[in-house]
Amino acid sequence: MATYEELSKEELLSLKSGLEAQFEEVKAKGLKLDMSRGKPSTEQLNLSMEMMDVLNSDSDLVCEEGVDCRNYGVLDGIKEAKQLLADMMEVPKDNIVIFGNSSLNVMYDTIARSMTHGVMGSTPWCKLDKVKFLCPVPGYDRHFAITEYFGIEMINVPMTPTGPDMDMVEKLVESDPAIKGIWCVPKYSNPQGITYSDETVHRFAKLNPAAEDFRIFWDNAYGIHHLYEDKQDYLIEILMECKKEGHPDMVYKFSSTSKISFPGSGIAAIAASDANLEDIRKQMKIQTIGHDKVNQLRHARYFGDIHGMVKHMKRHADIMRPKFDTVLNTLERELGGLGIGSWLSPRGGYFISFDSMEGCAKKIVAKAKEAGLIMTNAGATFPYGKDPKDSNIRIAPSYPTEEELAVATQIFVLSVKLVSIDKILSHKE
Ligand code: PMP
Repeated sequence: MATYEELSKEELLSLKSGLEAQFEEVKAKGLKLDMSRGKPSTEQLNLSMEMMDVLNSDSDLVCEEGVDCRNYGVLDGIKEAKQLLADMMEVPKDNIVIFGNSSLNVMYDTIARSMTHGVMGSTPWCKLDKVKFLCPVPGYDRHFAITEYFGIEMINVPMTPTGPDMDMVEKLVESDPAIKGIWCVPKYSNPQGITYSDETVHRFAKLNPAAEDFRIFWDNAYGIHHLYEDKQDYLIEILMECKKEGHPDMVYKFSSTSKISFPGSGIAAIAASDANLEDIRKQMKIQTIGHDKVNQLRHARYFGDIHGMVKHMKRHADIMRPKFDTVLNTLERELGGLGIGSWLSPRGGYFISFDSMEGCAKKIVAKAKEAGLIMTNAGATFPYGKDPKDSNIRIAPSYPTEEELAVATQIFVLSVKLVSIDKILSHKE
C-alpha cells in the first residue's frame, strides 16, 4: 500500500473528495460524542454499586483501632484501609497515609506545602528565585496545571518506550539545584500507556540530585489497571528501590481508587519514607481532624483485601478491553501503512496516544469537533498546552458505549486523513 506522501496530487484530490463526502454524511447526523476525558463509563461505575450496601443503619461502624468511624479521630487513615491501599501500592502499611477522595488533591497539597513551608526543613520554594520541574512529555495535563498554577517553570523531557529520557533527567537533576521535582506516571502512563522499564526505575533510584529537596512525584494512578490477564506490564516498586540506593526520602508515591471504585468517592493515599510522612503529618494535623472514615471502612469491607480488588479489576478490564480493541483495530485498518500517524497499543490504563504528522493535531481536533466529536484539546499533553510539534492527541475510549466509540473513531480517522491530505497537498504545490 502506498503512503499518502507517495500519491500524486491528482490521486490525493480524488481521495479527498470521497472522504469529504463521507465526512459530510456523518456530520449531517448531528452526533454528540466525547472521547476527551478518562472517565469510567456508567457500566463500570455500576460494578461497585454493591459497595453502597456494605454499610447500612444496622452496621457496626467501629474500625480496627476501636474508633467509631462516624466521629473525629484517626488522622491518617483507619488500619483496614491502610492495609488495603498499602497492598495496592506495594508498600508497608506504616509508610502510607490515607487522604480524601482525590490523589490529585494530595499532589496539589504536596506542592503547596513545599511552596509555603519547604520540604523537611529546607527553604520554602516560594522564597527561591526559581523553582523548576521536569515534565515527561506527552504527559498528564492536570499535573502540568498544578505546577503552572504555582509559577514553577516546567521543562519538557521526551518520553521513550521505556520511560522518560533518563540521560536528560540525570543531567538536569544532578546539575541544577532549582529542579525540585519530576512528574511521573510510571505504569500505563497517561497518555501513552507506557510502563517504565527496570533500568529506568533503577536509574531514578540512583539519582544524585543537586537539590536536597528534590522529589520524584510518582503518580501510580494505573498500577493495577490491566487490560489483559495474560499480557501485563510489571513495574519495580520505587520506594524500596530508593531505600536500597540510600535515597529513602527522594520519592512521593500517589494513588487512589478513583478508577477502581468511584472517581467521585474513592480513597486516595500517599506513600513515602517515615521522615517524609512525619513532615506531611505536621501540616495535615493543622488542615484536618481526619478524612472520611466511613468511606474508608466501606472500601475496606467491600474489597476485603487486595485479592478482592484484583478480582474487581478483571471486571473493569472486561468492559475496557473491547473498547480499546475497537479504537486500535480501526486505527490499524484505516490508517495503518499510510504514513500519516502513529500510536502505541497499551496493555492497561485509560488512554491511547496518537501522533499525527507535524502541525496537524490542532486541525484534526477541530475537524472532529465539526462532526460532533469532542477530543482532548491538542497541546493538553504538554506543559503550558504547547506541543512543539503540534502532533500529539490523547484518545480516551472509556466513557462512550462501544457503538458510540465505533462511530467516534470513524470520525477521528476521517479527520486525520482529511487534515493530512491538506498538509501533503500544501507542500506538493
Ligand atoms: N493521575 C493520573 C495520571 C490520572 O490520569 C488521573 C485521572 N485522570 C488522576 C491522577 C486523578 O486521580 P484522582 O481521581 O485520584 O484525583
